[in-house]
Amino acid sequence: MKKIVILSFLLAGMTVFGQSKEDSIQFSTISTEILNNGKGYTELKDLTKNIGNRLSGTEAYEKSVKWAEQKLRDAGADKVWLQEVMIPVWVRGKESLQIKTADGTWKKLKMLSLGNSEGTDGKDVSGEIIMVRSLEEYDKLPASQVKDKIVFFNYPFNQSHVQTFISYREASAYRRSAANLTAQKGGKFAIIRSLSSAFDDVPHTGNMRYDDNISKVPAVTIGNTTADELELLLKNKKITAKLNSNCGMKGEKLSHSVIGEITGKKDQSVIVVGGHLDSWDVGEGAHDDGAGIVQSIEVLRTFKKLGIQNNHTIRAVCFANEENGTKGGKQYGKTAKESNEKHLFAIESDAGGFSPRGISLEMDDNNRKQIQSWVNLFLPYGVYNFEGKYSGSDIAPLHEMGVPTAELVPDPQRYFDIHHTEEDTFEKVNRRELLLGAAVMTQLIYMIDKNW
Ligand SMILES: [Zn+2]
Repeated sequence: MKKIVILSFLLAGMTVFGQSKEDSIQFSTISTEILNNGKGYTELKDLTKNIGNRLSGTEAYEKSVKWAEQKLRDAGADKVWLQEVMIPVWVRGKESLQIKTADGTWKKLKMLSLGNSEGTDGKDVSGEIIMVRSLEEYDKLPASQVKDKIVFFNYPFNQSHVQTFISYREASAYRRSAANLTAQKGGKFAIIRSLSSAFDDVPHTGNMRYDDNISKVPAVTIGNTTADELELLLKNKKITAKLNSNCGMKGEKLSHSVIGEITGKKDQSVIVVGGHLDSWDVGEGAHDDGAGIVQSIEVLRTFKKLGIQNNHTIRAVCFANEENGTKGGKQYGKTAKESNEKHLFAIESDAGGFSPRGISLEMDDNNRKQIQSWVNLFLPYGVYNFEGKYSGSDIAPLHEMGVPTAELVPDPQRYFDIHHTEEDTFEKVNRRELLLGAAVMTQLIYMIDKNW
């Protein structure tokens, strides 16, 4: 009994921080509208099935630009435009990785070159594989033991973190630097175990980067099953691997991010909601990040449909080139700075279209506390986690300019099973989960627009 009294007192106290009955009714109206009439799921089907994957620089990406422009108009945006951005063009081409078996024949391994990696110019490059399980172990190897070898970084995704993004961040050091580390000690190319939470053989591509003044050796990735098998083979004897690939950078190209907005009724300061329109060149880019794109468009559509009178301008941004350069986000930040356009807040959805569980807040303590004080409004939608302090990479340039930024935090248990793989398809997305994410972003933007 006493507990109930204290709890009621606390809940009553929360209303002091700017949430009211009116807000909880508006939250319900927004959620009901999106769950019943949301277009995001059918739009995602259209994007993934009729355009498919859309790496920067491809014709498919350019089709997706036209697609997003039309969808923003359909959503009722007052203004839609393209923002020019120079993007790097990386091409995969043909690729194969083989190992020599006991009887002297070659066996093909399922693999992908990492994004932005150079290839072998269509020539065979072969050598003996040496395996390390960690960067620390690699550091201890003298260059003489690495020279002319192929380095297999067999670092497993840490299954113990419930927040899988922590495991991903830890493992991404391998994807980013395997090639540079291999080149430093004279190795021929690098193989990394995929950044994958799944127990399967699907390779996960993703971005890598070459340091300046170091030779650009190729980096490829293999799935968990192949990595385990290779580890077993290496226990008993020396194994030779052979890579033949054509991937590489092919200069730069003019492309576009796509922007649509609803004009503010009181002023033109901007609230951004966004995702990235590009994807890797395998799968369909459904969770990463078709989901974030259709959710952002859904936010605009819902404001229009419900006739919510927004004080500030609400802008949906479909960023170009997040995956292999973040040029869209950088250009957006640069343009905002040059035009002195005031930005109040920005949120990105780029962690999959799964059930929303929270919102990560990268901002000062006052703003953070204010948003956290709205938690009771979000609880009926299963959204409780406001503890994260990071936000999406496309809006990092805005954050650097002092803009409070955030990221939608969906349930993270399945994302890294399929992230950057052929398995990231429309069929892996659930309509209700996807649309609830859009509802939560709309609700948050409604509160920010009203209170900031
Ligand atoms: Zn993404």
